[in-house]
Amino acid sequence: MSALDAVLSARALMAAPTPLKGDCGRLCGGACCAGDAQTGMLLFPGEERLYARCAFARVVPARFSLGGAPGRLLVCQGRCPREERPLACRFFPLFLRFTPDGGTRVMLDRRSTGVCPLAGYGMEALAPGFVQAAREAYDKLLGDTECRAFLAGLDEEFGF
Ligand code: SF4
Ligand code: SF4
Repeated sequence: MSALDAVLSARALMAAPTPLKGDCGRLCGGACCAGDAQTGMLLFPGEERLYARCAFARVVPARFSLGGAPGRLLVCQGRCPREERPLACRFFPLFLRFTPDGGTRVMLDRRSTGVCPLAGYGMEALAPGFVQAAREAYDKLLGDTECRAFLAGLDEEFGF
């Protein structure tokens, strides 16, 4: 199984679940999609290949590497076909933290504070099916060496 296979499995698990049962974008006008030309969503290992010919976004190099591999960002125009959104968008506002005992824990992404109105209400505000699907998707990624190193790098860089 390649890193991209693991990413595709995780994307499939996160294709339908949403942070709330309804459309949470109505609460905030889709705030997490309102970046600018300088911001983008971090792509998982191999995921950039899915956007080699993309009408709604472009891939740009990040100024840092994660898990020993150069980071890549998908910079979009604020709208996309839902079935084509990258994995980072599917996980938002969740994040995977590594714990001292070698385990992992799904938590709110601290970067979502100030962007996502759900962040102020804690994990309890999120749909349980969304959190469960994220746990399963992260487990798929953790089963791949490259993706695991990427997630560990992400935690080192952006965890708290
Ligand atoms: S910012 Fe939060 S509430 Fe708004 S669309 Fe994104 S995930 Fe949903
Ligand atoms: S890729 Fe799609 S879901 Fe992700 S930020 Fe851009 S418009 Fe939003």
